[in-house]
Amino acid sequence: MTDLYRMLPEEIDDLVKLLGEPRYRADQLLQALYNEFPKDVSSIKQLPAEMRSKLTLAGHAVGSANEVHRVVSEDGETTKLLLKLGDGTLIETVLMQYHKKDKEHPRSTVCVSTQVGCAMGCKFCATGQMGFERNLKAEEIVTQVLHFASMLHERGEHITNLVFMGMGEPLANYAETIRSVKLLTHARAFGLGQRHITISTVGVMQGIERLAEEDLQIGLAISLHAPNDDLRQKLVPTAGPHSVEDLISVTRSYFKKTGRRVSLEYALLDGINDSKEIAEELAALLKGNGVHVNLIPVNPTAGGFQRPRWKRITEFERVLKEAGVNCTVRVEKGSEISAACGQLRTDMVKNPNLGST
Ligand code: SAH
Ligand code: SF4
Repeated sequence: MTDLYRMLPEEIDDLVKLLGEPRYRADQLLQALYNEFPKDVSSIKQLPAEMRSKLTLAGHAVGSANEVHRVVSEDGETTKLLLKLGDGTLIETVLMQYHKKDKEHPRSTVCVSTQVGCAMGCKFCATGQMGFERNLKAEEIVTQVLHFASMLHERGEHITNLVFMGMGEPLANYAETIRSVKLLTHARAFGLGQRHITISTVGVMQGIERLAEEDLQIGLAISLHAPNDDLRQKLVPTAGPHSVEDLISVTRSYFKKTGRRVSLEYALLDGINDSKEIAEELAALLKGNGVHVNLIPVNPTAGGFQRPRWKRITEFERVLKEAGVNCTVRVEKGSEISAACGQLRTDMVKNPNLGST
């Protein structure tokens, strides 16, 4: 079976030609796929019945992903879906909305997973602690976005931003991640602006270098978490011996190649990487680099780590700002609904009854 959501518009053109159908049928098919979100080929009513059966006979289908659980935060701004893929695999995807007073529509950011589990094993990450199961296919990444697109469509809203910050390491699943980016940004497919997409990586060097060559205008975020290799290796066991130095230098080359500034993510862990001395070390490392740092007080999901007290967080921020390093404290939205990376799935596996609600 080839999933139609895997195919780039040029591939759909070739398929339509191969089936002996006129070219405009490709546009009708794409239009239906990305605006009406059909659950199967037979419900694509824009196409004549004969073409639908030709598609099915040629082994084309629309993959299934069913929503098995949905949680909405109290303020209604964060929604988390647990989706069951065709093979029974469970993945999670999150929608975060920000309502601005002067804007009619909220900013709606979807956070997608790229792998089931993750091999990188970061100590504070629920996904990392569950180990690696498998890579997701491009169509399984696309389907996460389309589930929310369809939900928002019914409310007269739409997705404005996309971040690859869910379960897994996107650059360890390079080809499928890039294919999904192409599908989601292609003007004849989902059509999201490239500048509205950010890929977050723990620092897969080869992947970052390849990404810089892709001629894509997407944003890159690197998860640093420590200003030196000793500490970083304790938190990210798969980090190499010169990872901090290498990552700082790759932010510069990525900017040179793409014109897009790289942002750094730094999970603040109480008593581990949040002291004044460490803030000063980080400030010295980043000074004059033009990077933006997102400080993320950790969600206590794995490894017994705790969120620092608010005073410590603002003190850390102050040290960076005084040194001229741009930074923002990003309080993770939806923590009460287990919206942190890999958490809902972990809850679900521990308490399978969740899935039947
Ligand atoms: N694998 C990629 C992308 C997915 S994780 C990466 O590591 O960048 C997305 C972000 O969530 C990363 O910055 C990661 O460090 C952060 N994260 C993971 N677990 C967290 C937790 N328990 N609390 C806060 N941030 C967390
Ligand atoms: Fe994987 Fe990112 Fe979690 Fe690290 S933080 S284990 S790289 S998903």
